[in-house]
Amino acid sequence: MKSDDYANAPRFCSTCGGAVTKTDDEYSRYACGPCGAVHYLNPKVSAGVIVVADRSILLVRRAIEPYAGHWNLPAGYVEYEETCEEAAVREAREEAGVEVALRGLHGVYSCIDDPRAHYVLVIYRADIRSGELRGGDDVDEARFFARDTLPTHIAFDGMRRAIRDLTL
Ligand SMILES: [Zn+2]
Repeated sequence: MKSDDYANAPRFCSTCGGAVTKTDDEYSRYACGPCGAVHYLNPKVSAGVIVVADRSILLVRRAIEPYAGHWNLPAGYVEYEETCEEAAVREAREEAGVEVALRGLHGVYSCIDDPRAHYVLVIYRADIRSGELRGGDDVDEARFFARDTLPTHIAFDGMRRAIRDLTL
């Protein structure tokens, strides 16, 4: 990935409000002119679920940019007050309308093709415990696809690798 001009790079110091500039370190660090504080740019964390039933995979269709109309696993950014597991369960509820039980870690994927931010995607295997499938929040449809009839438009490289890693 390119090394500067990230969409989520800091512009101002969170300590004093002064302007920050990118240092010439190998990795992305931003130094505040007025107070000298150094700010690190780290990947965000996203968590979600891969639900398989009758050899089919649960996907949700994005209703917002980027990649509106593309399909995804139910997933989203982890809030500061929650664990990865809690975020995965919440995203399944918000995006697909179902309560899930997590069944262990499926995989961890670095996603560097999202224009908003580099993020780390944590995907858990999960089963549906209750609820009716319906798209909600940032998605407009939730449904199962058989492994050999997956939609061609699946957003984000990490999502595609998580699905590819599935053994049915
Ligand atoms: Zn400062």
